[in-house]
Amino acid sequence: MTSKAERPGKIVCVGRNYSEHAKELGNEVPKEPLIFLKPPSSVIGEGDAIFLPKQSKQIEHEAEIGVIVGARLRNASEAIAAKSIAAIVAVNDVTARDLQKTDGQWTRAKGFDTFCPLGTPARNYPALDRLTVICRVNGEERQRGNSADMVFNIPMLLAYISGIMTLEPGDLVATGTPSGVSPLKDGDVVEVEIVGVSKVSNPVKANA
Ligand code: ZN
Repeated sequence: MTSKAERPGKIVCVGRNYSEHAKELGNEVPKEPLIFLKPPSSVIGEGDAIFLPKQSKQIEHEAEIGVIVGARLRNASEAIAAKSIAAIVAVNDVTARDLQKTDGQWTRAKGFDTFCPLGTPARNYPALDRLTVICRVNGEERQRGNSADMVFNIPMLLAYISGIMTLEPGDLVATGTPSGVSPLKDGDVVEVEIVGVSKVSNPVKANA
């Protein structure tokens, strides 16, 4: 897989971090952050194709606010974590929803090649609790969320994760998706935008 996008060292994702999205999939909001990993090999950049793997019949977009870590964080406080952000980036946490349900472990559902489109990281951005994230498919809005509505806010997430695994400069944390996830099909163009900050647009293609 070749792409212009820079690969993070690791990609830590947060599940069910907006209550409306947890509800639409029939899940409760977790009592503490629910985290999982996506492999760096899933990263693609602006304009690169998302390939629909033949193992799945239901592949969905998840528009997310991505945080690029700027300093080594281990057991960090929320205050230190908030000061250690290098950039904010648009992320599409593409997910094979059917496999996510049947597998239990999410590695396959979240880990296919091309399942992590990333925009250009932005060093300048509004306050962390005032970021708006939007997903459009073929120009039509499907998701709109704001970081103010997260169950666990960005500094808390970084601090929490740093208590489990050391976060290194260049690591990416994808902070969860708002409601409105929906299937992608061959020929679609899907765009994730963090308003005024970062954007990534990708064509969707049938089996690689
Ligand atoms: Zn997600």
